[in-house]
Amino acid sequence: MISPVQFPEIGNVPKKYESSMPEKIVKPDAEWRKQLSDEQFQVTRRKGTERPFSGKYNDCKDAGTYNCICCGAPLFSSSHKFDSGTGWPSYWQPVSPEAVKTAEDYSHFMLRTEATCASCDAHLGHVFDDGPEPTGLRYCINSASLKFAK
Ligand SMILES: [Zn+2]
Repeated sequence: MISPVQFPEIGNVPKKYESSMPEKIVKPDAEWRKQLSDEQFQVTRRKGTERPFSGKYNDCKDAGTYNCICCGAPLFSSSHKFDSGTGWPSYWQPVSPEAVKTAEDYSHFMLRTEATCASCDAHLGHVFDDGPEPTGLRYCINSASLKFAK
């Protein structure tokens, strides 16, 4: 099960940076609910988190691209995936710098960096600074927000 939580939007990227972002996909929740499973909806549109080791891509080692479950935008590549041991698919960088947006997230009384799809604002997971070289970053991502394509 996942724990759906809702918090006000804070720390969004300032407007002036949006010109370099991919074209925005905006849909009402009713539309997202139609195309997503309950778990996918709770994770991507309600900032939920799947249980560790429960996601289908945690152990996936196939070569390919991980696309956004909501809008299909390419987000991560298997060549940047590593085994973090956390129970969630982990990547040391997104497929391109523009693909994944990050913002400060103050929910759960912690300051974390939230990762979202730059195209449709789907919540993906969080970014931590204990990843491997060369970036030292760990994009800790819910399988429920991804769709793998070989
Ligand atoms: Zn998306």
